[in-house]
Amino acid sequence: MSDCLFCRIVRGEIPSRKAYEDDLVYAFHDINPARPVHVLVVPKRHIGSLAEVGEADAPVLGRMLEVASRIATEQGSPDGFRVIINTGRIGQQEVGHLHAHIVGGPEPVGPMLKRI
Ligand code: 5GP
Ligand code: ZN
Repeated sequence: MSDCLFCRIVRGEIPSRKAYEDDLVYAFHDINPARPVHVLVVPKRHIGSLAEVGEADAPVLGRMLEVASRIATEQGSPDGFRVIINTGRIGQQEVGHLHAHIVGGPEPVGPMLKRI
């Protein structure tokens, strides 16, 4: 998956505004933020979507959620946030590398977002 957009961001071939990084995940600010806080958390290893995960992916999936909480607080959404994982055609996923959107900010994010 060398030409995958988010694989290239993880490798630093495409610049991104990093929010967090460890051995399993990379987090960076969305290029087109929908809310004051809008960070994407991705597994460093390519996984196409949430529809493709298996039992072996449980550690990285757990890590994604664990860091989501920390990142949201650090980035300015200490009173709550929303995590969204668009998946496949029906979920209107646009980038084919699993990613969790963390959205928040000082104000409530509103009703379930139609499109993020
Ligand atoms: P999806 O629709 O697949 O759930 O979300 C893809 C997200 O990736 C969108 O919110 C979009 O703004 C973001 N995105 C697409 N290309 C880039 C990029 O090159 N850099 C960053 N930081 N975000 C991107
Ligand atoms: Zn990828």
